[in-house]
Amino acid sequence: MVEKIDEKGIFLYLKREDLLHPEISGNKFRKLKYNLIEAKSEGVDTLLTFGGAFSNHIAAVAAAGKKYGFRTIGIIRGDELIDKIDENPTLLFARENGMKFVFVTREIFRQKDSLEFIEKLRLEYGNFYLLPEGGTNNLAVKGCEEILTNEDEDFTYVCCAVGTGGTIAGIINSLRENQKAIGFPSLKGTFLSDDIRSFAKNNNWELISDYHFGGYGKVSEELIVFLNEFYRKTGIPLDPVYTGKMMFGIYDLIKKGYFKEGSKILAIHTGGLQGCKGMNLFLKKKHLPTLNYI
Ligand SMILES: *Cc1c(COP(=O)(O)O)cnc(C)c1O
Repeated sequence: MVEKIDEKGIFLYLKREDLLHPEISGNKFRKLKYNLIEAKSEGVDTLLTFGGAFSNHIAAVAAAGKKYGFRTIGIIRGDELIDKIDENPTLLFARENGMKFVFVTREIFRQKDSLEFIEKLRLEYGNFYLLPEGGTNNLAVKGCEEILTNEDEDFTYVCCAVGTGGTIAGIINSLRENQKAIGFPSLKGTFLSDDIRSFAKNNNWELISDYHFGGYGKVSEELIVFLNEFYRKTGIPLDPVYTGKMMFGIYDLIKKGYFKEGSKILAIHTGGLQGCKGMNLFLKKKHLPTLNYI
């Protein structure tokens, strides 16, 4: 579903990928699709992956595992979390969906891409289908190539929040010649462009790194106020980690005249709303305003 949300010489539309599935949200559904088909065809019945305490990817893998008949194992960053599961909506949700957790220190977590570490995990937990942190691999990018359809060919710009870059790589691969993708990284990172380049087949894209609000999971009062106001105006909930930063960026760029008059912008709502509950608990603790639509 594509919704029109603004026009003042600029036409802004939002593609509601968050509505694809109630629990396997937005781009995570796209990223898992062909991986799950591959895991089934290999006859593997366990998915193993990595993530932080509020990870949308962890929540999506747990829900997809339950729905499609896989056991799931989540290697979780931070061994202090082991007795804080009950305070963490994301981990509670994943556990309810049957995910088995292995909590590791940040130091051990950093080995997540090492073959030796993966072999150790296989010795301990048996055979599994490995999904990298954030879920980005070739099959994930292939799934994200299905986000844009023929109906989207009239848009001049396609905007997308960026974490590991897999989603925008899929979008880039399905752009028409006259279209441009704009990515809004939600973390401070220098390797992102190289990662995207390794999956993307075109050059008509750009990252705008001015809207990460201090880094991954970091938010400001201004951002929360913007999201509450956006919800009041449109009835559409955004998450503060990804889509909220993107939308803040789009409105700011419109204000600054970045887009030519008459531009048609398609923003992708990649989902991620499961993280809002945990964010609100955090905001409350810090005596900051909370998201009022959760
Ligand atoms: C994971 C996620 C992203 C980032 O996707 P990448 O493919 O890692 O760039 C964007 N938006 C939401 C809501 C997400 O959960």
